[in-house]
Amino acid sequence: MHLQTEILKRLLHVKAIGCDADLREEIRTIPKCELHVHLAGAVRRSTLVDLARKNNVSLPASSAQDFLQAPNLLMLSSGNEIWELFHRMYQWCWSCVRSCDDLERIVFEFLEDSYHQGVRHSEFTVSGSAVMHKFPFDEWTDAVALGIHRAQASYPIAAAAILDISRRSGPAQAHANVDKVIQGRPSALCGIGMGGDEVKYPDSLFTEAFQHARKNAIPSTVHVAEFAPGETTITTIEMLQPNRLGHALNTIKSTQAYAILKEKGIHVESCPLCNYLGLVGGLTCIEEHPISKYYMDGIPISINTDDPHIFGFDLLDNYVCLFKEAHFTIEDFRAINKRAATFGFIPSSEMARAGQPALSIGEANTRQT
Ligand SMILES: [Zn+2]
Repeated sequence: MHLQTEILKRLLHVKAIGCDADLREEIRTIPKCELHVHLAGAVRRSTLVDLARKNNVSLPASSAQDFLQAPNLLMLSSGNEIWELFHRMYQWCWSCVRSCDDLERIVFEFLEDSYHQGVRHSEFTVSGSAVMHKFPFDEWTDAVALGIHRAQASYPIAAAAILDISRRSGPAQAHANVDKVIQGRPSALCGIGMGGDEVKYPDSLFTEAFQHARKNAIPSTVHVAEFAPGETTITTIEMLQPNRLGHALNTIKSTQAYAILKEKGIHVESCPLCNYLGLVGGLTCIEEHPISKYYMDGIPISINTDDPHIFGFDLLDNYVCLFKEAHFTIEDFRAINKRAATFGFIPSSEMARAGQPALSIGEANTRQT
């Protein structure tokens, strides 16, 4: 079946399940901790139209109306692989952000939208390859901080960004980016992350950069086994020693990798709907997603959107689908979020500044600065 046709079929299924108003409202009131969401993948569609117009960027549609009405941004993309469809749109979203004011705006709006879905603790990823060459380090981190503070003036939400050091940028750039974080210690950033092709750019290239971060108390998370086989989880855990893992979708398929994950109790930032709509991991339905197994086996997890607006769903759709199709209960959701908050990277001083509601998700933030 044609790639976009299959994605659309799945999206319509998600939307049909996700529109249960009573259940959405009940889930909305649960205090949530979201630890894995890419800022560029979470920009409001209407804001993208505004920014594109202001910055003379062509829309990937014949009109603003067509752009706004598309089921998701992947329908407006092109390519033979899901990765291509996604990457084009992701890059396009960043291409609309041309100033620090634009960056501040998308941070503020993202947190506003998150708050209205019950998020009280948000750690969102900013792509290093998108911002590091575009703006001076101090300026873009200040813009992110301003967006966070503006949101916090209206909403009790703890928030900070994770700087993504892409595998594709190579080890020297990764090391340089880690160094910038260590030297600057900007309040807007709470850790580093890494995504990209694990096979083409293996963990061994980045051991030093992660060691450098660890020695300087910068926590880290690494995307693993989303596209690559489950075995890659083993080298990631051993060589990079991240505090958390993103996706770890195929980890379940490797007995050895899964045993190590369980034994070490590493937190998995799970992104069920994004995986299902992204046609990865061989999933044919939401029920097949390993998040249920991870939860039953006591692996600490969080429920995340990854790139909600590119894929066309929101955080509440994620929860409603897990409730209806993967046997999770409201009490499970409360327990998952409470535990997830204890794996957050935001330092306790920042958590306290953000207000009590954020702190009330978990007992105490385990990391001290
Ligand atoms: Zn991700």
